[in-house]
Amino acid sequence: MRGIRKPQPPKDVSPDGQQPRPLLKAERDFLDALPAAPDPAGFARSTFNSLEKTKLRDVLYVEQGALCVYCERRVAEGQPTPRIDHWRPLGQNPELALAWRNLYLCCAHPATCDCRKHETPLRASDEDPDLPWPVDHHYAHCVGFTSLGEMYVRSDAPLDATQREALELAIGVPHDKVPEDNGILNLNHPALVAARAAVIDEERTRLERRFKKTVSRSEREAIAAERLGNYPLPEFVSIRVRWLRKTLGTGR
Ligand SMILES: [Zn+2]
Repeated sequence: MRGIRKPQPPKDVSPDGQQPRPLLKAERDFLDALPAAPDPAGFARSTFNSLEKTKLRDVLYVEQGALCVYCERRVAEGQPTPRIDHWRPLGQNPELALAWRNLYLCCAHPATCDCRKHETPLRASDEDPDLPWPVDHHYAHCVGFTSLGEMYVRSDAPLDATQREALELAIGVPHDKVPEDNGILNLNHPALVAARAAVIDEERTRLERRFKKTVSRSEREAIAAERLGNYPLPEFVSIRVRWLRKTLGTGR
């Protein structure tokens, strides 16, 4: 999980053959009509479903470096086609159905991320606000990884107590500690932990091939910057960068 910049809402979200309409105009029309809708959530869903999703995804790929907003797996058309997640669930927040800051691309893995989250809000209790949007928060400073590939909330994360509790609940703990799927997003699913451990090996091998002797801190930093500057981003970019910067934890 990382912060995401969302500077350019799509300029056209109409189905092909129809008059082009920017997302912001579609959102204004929707918000004007919403107060009179007898079923706000149903109206919000049907309005969202009427948008041309490929045009939304085209922009979301660029913003997110073609990675799932939560787990950082690769997302691409038809492999299978990724989902567009409402960070704050549409059913409880119909007014945010077309809000660009609320829309993120998400993998279609059946056991994690949006497929597991569905309409569950990212918060620990009903009295708390939802976790801030990635467009408003530096999640790269909040999430840490162990050298085994496990994800956790960093002790120095810039979060208040309720946000920390919500993020821990969202991520879930490794399955060797709790032997069932857990967490709202299940980001310590064994397949994800193994995949993250594998990319550390990949980075290590690449580094050893490139540098015959000791690699300096500035050289590692330069490679980390290179990884973050790529499009598409490499899968699991956050743990790669943390390994390159030697900031992986040894345990929880
Ligand atoms: Zn995912």
